[in-house]
Amino acid sequence: MPHSQLPGLLKRLASLTAVRDTELLELSLLRTLLPMLGVSNCLLYRVNERHEFLRAIQFGREVSADGKSRTQLSESIEDSSNTATVPDPLQAMIETIRETLQPAFQSTGDSITHVYPLFSKHAITGYLVFESAHKLDESEDLLVRGILSVYRNFATLLDESQRDKLTGLLNRHSLDQSLDKIMISLSAAETAKANAQAADTPEGEEKRNQKQPPTYWLAMIDIDHFKRINDTFGHTIGDEVLLLIARLMQQTLRNGDLLYRYGGEEFIAISATHDAAAIHQQLERLRQTIETSNFSQVGRFTVSIGYARLDGHYSAREIISRADQTLYEAKRAGRNKVLSHAALLAAGVLKEPTYGSIELF
Ligand code: GH3
Ligand code: MG
Ligand code: MG
Repeated sequence: MPHSQLPGLLKRLASLTAVRDTELLELSLLRTLLPMLGVSNCLLYRVNERHEFLRAIQFGREVSADGKSRTQLSESIEDSSNTATVPDPLQAMIETIRETLQPAFQSTGDSITHVYPLFSKHAITGYLVFESAHKLDESEDLLVRGILSVYRNFATLLDESQRDKLTGLLNRHSLDQSLDKIMISLSAAETAKANAQAADTPEGEEKRNQKQPPTYWLAMIDIDHFKRINDTFGHTIGDEVLLLIARLMQQTLRNGDLLYRYGGEEFIAISATHDAAAIHQQLERLRQTIETSNFSQVGRFTVSIGYARLDGHYSAREIISRADQTLYEAKRAGRNKVLSHAALLAAGVLKEPTYGSIELF
């Protein structure tokens, strides 16, 4: 790379590492790499710990009608119950990479497909895929690897900052960030739906017929009588039990569900489903799994769960408060129960807050 390009590279690296959010970091990575390689389009796939494909970000430059090149980003976040689909030829290259842990290249007609693995500290976390007219030469390859290792270090730091030290679950700070994003996308989706309904045009009809987006739910999960564990066995064993329960919950929830440690022995799960019955079954399964698990020296546990729908008309704080009130009712009803906020409203146990009253917090 000519020295004259170095300041530009450093500037891009600086903007890459200034990012405080995983998705923005990925975007910034693509923005850094694309112009350097003279590549017009690339894809970034993310995989989870089980190597299931979660989503793909596509980044590319398009030439618009006025002849100007413009950068465009399109992201497809798959429904959380599904995983992203990867075309077959790419799948074969990815299999090779998983064995060699080295990038793979393959000629596809008049261009070469390049696939570079993205790593965290211990595992592959994704793949960068792009086409180029020629195979990258040694210095270009080194440049890509160098930038990917900066990305790796930074992504690892970012990931650690979003996780709780004891359980490894996402932390409260990360919950605030996710909720902000979900609430923004929910209110945008609701506005779009209202507009489509208002516009009684063929396009409006088409939009209305599109596959319904999933409903998001927020569940608050609290371990029953946890204080007794500390009192009986001591705080260190208490910590160990928290870690075991966190693992168990992670294994029981579905791929794509998000699990946070909200407080000491309180957790929040965010889940997407297509109907209210499905979320209830899922949380009921979680409750039963914990109830029937034996934690060797300390015996058995139960949890109480209250959940509410993530509704774009309300604030994240309001939704958390609904789940919390519902959890409180589950405790009052004898613990080891899953209750829904909507059901408690319908039964008259809880009431919608009256607005215009003074907010105390
Ligand atoms: P309930 O069924 O009403 O939820 O009863 P509880 O005892 O679980 O609830 P309470 O809120 O009275 O007590 C929670 C206890 O959790 C208090 C504290 O000792 C314990 N705790 C909170 N955070 C931690 C932690 O990080 N480690 C350990 N070992 N204990 C914790
Ligand atoms: Mg508790
Ligand atoms: Mg508690």
